[in-house]
Amino acid sequence: MTTQHNPDTANPFRDMARGVARFQGEVYPRERGLYRKLVHDGQKPKALMISCADSRVIPEMITQCGPGELFVCRNAGNIVPPFGRTNGGVSSVIEYAVLALGVRDIIVCGHSDCGAMGALLHPEKLATMPNVAAWLHHSQAAQRIVEQTLHCDAPDEERHRALAKENVVVQINHLRTHPSVAAGIAAGKLTLHGWLFELEHGSVLAYDGDTGLFALMDDDTPPVAVAPRGGAALPVAAE
Ligand SMILES: [Zn+2]
Repeated sequence: MTTQHNPDTANPFRDMARGVARFQGEVYPRERGLYRKLVHDGQKPKALMISCADSRVIPEMITQCGPGELFVCRNAGNIVPPFGRTNGGVSSVIEYAVLALGVRDIIVCGHSDCGAMGALLHPEKLATMPNVAAWLHHSQAAQRIVEQTLHCDAPDEERHRALAKENVVVQINHLRTHPSVAAGIAAGKLTLHGWLFELEHGSVLAYDGDTGLFALMDDDTPPVAVAPRGGAALPVAAE
């Protein structure tokens, strides 16, 4: 994507404008048929991914998805506010993805070297950023877990990595508080995944809800965080 031009380091915006021109002139014409089909048929994405806004974490690149294949919600810290706490963008994206688009998989994707996780470990960095500080309250459970389970002498790098993992698990739990998600799992239609993208290696670790561990994704059937119930009818209470 950026291999055939010289970046304009003095004026990054001009560089992006040239990128738009290249997209219109070179990339789009090659994909015209695909875009026509997507306009005609509408989107039918394979999954919803909730990832960090970090510029180094690109969901479509990690999963090798093209236009129309991935519904994406990105924010600082790949956070999912619990249902009812914040009637905002993330809740709306989840509801739309599940109920309107019918996605069957939701992925919460954290990553190594996450600035949001770093800010949780060093809250003094947030003194002038009240909005970020308030947003990161949704990760407090993860922070508390790390505080109580890691030795107090653990190096910062280890704490950071543990926090990024625990945060993925906490946000998966928040996802389950959303009625559309809870009902989808109960009906056997929805699977939840927790991933950690490692910038240093290009690898992805997947959370196993049964063992509570993250394992390297190396095939097409990685462990899942929350499996669908199987669609069995709910038991009726005896009278
Ligand atoms: Zn991040």
